[in-house]
Amino acid sequence: MSRFWSPLVRELVPYVPGEQPRMANQVKLNTNENPFGPSPKVIEAIRSEVGENLRLYPDPEGLKLKQALASYHGVEPGQIFLGNGSDEVLAHIFQGLFQHGEPVLFPDVTYSFYPVYCGLYGIEGRPVPLNEKFEIDVEDYSQPNGGVIFPNPNAPTGRYLPLEAVEQIIAANPDRVVVVDEAYVDFGGQTAITLVNRYPNLLVSQTLSKARSLAGLRVGFAVGHRDLIEGLERIKDSFNSYPLDRLALAGAVAAYEDEAWFEETRQAVMGERQRLTAELESLGFEVLPSKANFVFTRHPLHSGEVLSQSLREQGIIVRHFRKARIEEFLRITIGREDQNDALLKALRNILGR
Ligand code: PMP
Repeated sequence: MSRFWSPLVRELVPYVPGEQPRMANQVKLNTNENPFGPSPKVIEAIRSEVGENLRLYPDPEGLKLKQALASYHGVEPGQIFLGNGSDEVLAHIFQGLFQHGEPVLFPDVTYSFYPVYCGLYGIEGRPVPLNEKFEIDVEDYSQPNGGVIFPNPNAPTGRYLPLEAVEQIIAANPDRVVVVDEAYVDFGGQTAITLVNRYPNLLVSQTLSKARSLAGLRVGFAVGHRDLIEGLERIKDSFNSYPLDRLALAGAVAAYEDEAWFEETRQAVMGERQRLTAELESLGFEVLPSKANFVFTRHPLHSGEVLSQSLREQGIIVRHFRKARIEEFLRITIGREDQNDALLKALRNILGR
């Protein structure tokens, strides 16, 4: 606390990101990074961007990347908004499109940055309880609101809402923006980007941090009607004209030019997810059905807190949330085969099997 802080700063409750441990040799399964690394073509593209040109500002529009994303997703470049990670995109959405004097709806168990943005921008958030299976009930999103946002698949549960149900939520809110946060959609979900030309109130956000394995590059984007994108561009150009640097733009374009790498690595993650789920179940864990690159799991006889601490003592870092409804759960990122084996071995030790 300092007397120099503005009143807003005193009130803020910031987001707490998963830890980035400074020690090597840990099996890091706590922040949903991709264990396989980016395409070699991405590294090559970034390397060739390193040079004299770095004295110049990057393209403030990021046009080449918008073109690459537009052709990949079958939309126009003018329907794409770019940001420094999808977190930045989401922040601008809250500030630019959710300020309507009515509460913004999101699930009670969801990405914990949403209430943080509400606090930052003075927006009321209304958590809508997931049902007892941790699913979104579509009817709950017909109440009056200032906007709707949910991840699909949801985080940290991994549960996926079929596209028809997503469409019902969008159709039920024609006068409000509905944001589908698709950070994890490439691990088995269907994107709602196919709906943007039919629903002018729909925004879909995605990130290169997960399936494209570029969490360190900080690139995210949103797709929607031009008018929504224009609103976001007005916020961006009142905040930071160059959110994506030259290396990020070059690497991101290259990521969409290596479809084989994308396909191979996401299939490997999904394969390991299936194996890990079965192994956890054989150890007595309950595992929620996941279409993300993580699983959300609890054991009937062992507390989440203790399990997470015991794993840490064996060099394995997973995510545990001290929050209502989910304190018995662990969120475990799908690792490489050897990492998942190390996790399973440690769990067998802990459970005495
Ligand atoms: N949405 C969800 C649901 C997430 O879990 C994350 C990752 N923490 C993000 C958005 C933001 O990812 P990034 O800023 O790396 O694009």
